[in-house]
Amino acid sequence: MNKLRSFIFLAFIALVILEDSAVCSEMPFKVPLQTRKEWNFEKEGVQFSNNFSGARLNNCAHLQDNIYIATISPENSPINQSPWYAFKISSCKKQTIEVRFLLTHPGTTSKPIISFDGKEFKALDKKLWTQESSENKTLASALLEVGPNPLWVFAHQPISLDDLDLWSNTLAKSPSTKITTIGKSMEGRPIKQLALGNPDATNFIFILGRQHPPEVTGSVGLMSFVDTIALNSPLSKTFRHSFQTIVIPVVNPDGVEHGHWRSTLGSVDPNRDYGPFTQIETRAVRDALTTITKQPKARVYLFLDFHSTSEDIFYTQRDEDQTFPLLFTKRWLKGIQEHFPNYAFKRDAEHNENLPTSKTWAYKTFGSAGITYEFGYNTSFEKVRAIASGAAEEMMKILVAETASR
Ligand SMILES: [Zn+2]
Repeated sequence: MNKLRSFIFLAFIALVILEDSAVCSEMPFKVPLQTRKEWNFEKEGVQFSNNFSGARLNNCAHLQDNIYIATISPENSPINQSPWYAFKISSCKKQTIEVRFLLTHPGTTSKPIISFDGKEFKALDKKLWTQESSENKTLASALLEVGPNPLWVFAHQPISLDDLDLWSNTLAKSPSTKITTIGKSMEGRPIKQLALGNPDATNFIFILGRQHPPEVTGSVGLMSFVDTIALNSPLSKTFRHSFQTIVIPVVNPDGVEHGHWRSTLGSVDPNRDYGPFTQIETRAVRDALTTITKQPKARVYLFLDFHSTSEDIFYTQRDEDQTFPLLFTKRWLKGIQEHFPNYAFKRDAEHNENLPTSKTWAYKTFGSAGITYEFGYNTSFEKVRAIASGAAEEMMKILVAETASR
């Protein structure tokens, strides 16, 4: 009997996947766009929706009783195993439903972060979550209390395009910060750049974010890092007098909008494109930054690209790879460790060193350290903010001393 039941369930899953592959929009992009829609289960009075920015829910079906199947697929494959999902559920009456997550590609489903208003978020109680893995496919299931007010269900607490716009526009109210558009994404979204500091300064640091859509702790780290540079502390003011900080907070806005796991709408991992430059987004970054460095006396001191992964880690060059300023990375990480003696983080000086990542391109092009600054997916926002702010202070101390000695 059990065998028969699992056969019926698997056959059902196969049908769901088949149907899913048929509901892609015909668009002139290399990745099939998920269809934005509501799934109405009228008899049960339950509705699922992926009709909002950043959503990802590729299909939804009612299995039996109070059990629903949410199908989650990446935009292309093979792809890094960092599944993103985001959807809303409402129900005419208050009830508990079971949502089974069906990943069609390898990866681990994160325990959901839930919200009743899209503003306050909390982790789902672990008693309401089960997960089992077999043959690279993970079956996970959540028990969710639903009712007339929509319940938001996310893989990670979101940082949306609107959140990042609001942050950028708030910073740009300061007279020493300028916001410009350096290009457009494939679907026409502006790629924005902030320039903080003395516009006559010829020393620069470059900062990128959100090449990879689900990597929200990277965005949190970027915002806190830049906010610290924008403070009115004596250190920040001195730094802004000598340095311009150039920030591109969202390199892949289409990916964030469409809830991608990794790629642009051109079906390319942007952080493997700093060499071929096949994507309009990476070309916009390259052209904006290299134009700046063509100005007379322009000198780049640091390139940082904020991401998220399974742990807090810096992907860097080796100490024997000469950078300007000399041994910046070694000195900076020492400063961070002294600032936070109990903070455990890692450094990997060889990660992806031969792949066309932004950090390798920046190191080869500008001669500065090029660093991928990764926060753990599960590092709390509060901790990310504190660490990134301390890291910005340590960076400013080193670079201010560098320019003073010149
Ligand atoms: Zn990444």
